[in-house]
Amino acid sequence: MSLTEISDRIAKTEASAGRAAGATQLIAVSKRQPDDRVADVLAQGHRLFGENQVQEAAGKWPAFRETYPDAKVHLLGPLQTNKARQALGLFDAIHSLDRPKLANTLARLAQEEGHCPDLFIQVNTGEEAQKSGILPADTDAFVADCRALDLPVVGLMCIPPVDEEPALHFALLAKLAKRNDLAGLSMGMSGDYERAVALGATHVRVGSAIFGARTT
Ligand SMILES: *Cc1c(COP(=O)(O)O)cnc(C)c1O
Repeated sequence: MSLTEISDRIAKTEASAGRAAGATQLIAVSKRQPDDRVADVLAQGHRLFGENQVQEAAGKWPAFRETYPDAKVHLLGPLQTNKARQALGLFDAIHSLDRPKLANTLARLAQEEGHCPDLFIQVNTGEEAQKSGILPADTDAFVADCRALDLPVVGLMCIPPVDEEPALHFALLAKLAKRNDLAGLSMGMSGDYERAVALGATHVRVGSAIFGARTT
């Protein structure tokens, strides 16, 4: 599907859900995509991208940014604390703040470096053992802890279980965000971004629908 077609669908859904036009940002998830596909989307004028790994982003974005200095890159995947300093230098936002140890590390590094990307707290809405994230019941306390550390938390993020209706998870995430006065909602991927927009997503993370199937 073309970038234009996806943007149109987002705009239509915003309108039918009574949301402001442009309330949703489309993150083009370029992880594990060949450089020529990414270059093509940049050439079409798109500037907001998502990556899953520090290493991979460090390998490809410095070069793209020489040509497109206004390109923004968000980290969507898990962040190891030993890569946190590098992440601070690479990303405009991190969607995977998922544990107290990482919050403490980011707070310390933000002090040292004098800046911190926008942060989304990842919530494990499906309470899946294999998935990282803060449990719904612990979210209020974790938001408060992050605020006490002066971390720039702007919203919540979730990845619903593959075999469940995502709308239930999007609605739960929206409820948790509202209760904590957080404006940002990072939710929705290639298969369910329209449902996410209808339920208030401010950031949808769409990969394969834009770029095609990942090659590796
Ligand atoms: C890969 C990934 C996406 C994009 O997935 P698609 O199904 O290709 O749209 C979105 N969010 C996260 C966290 C991802 O890892």
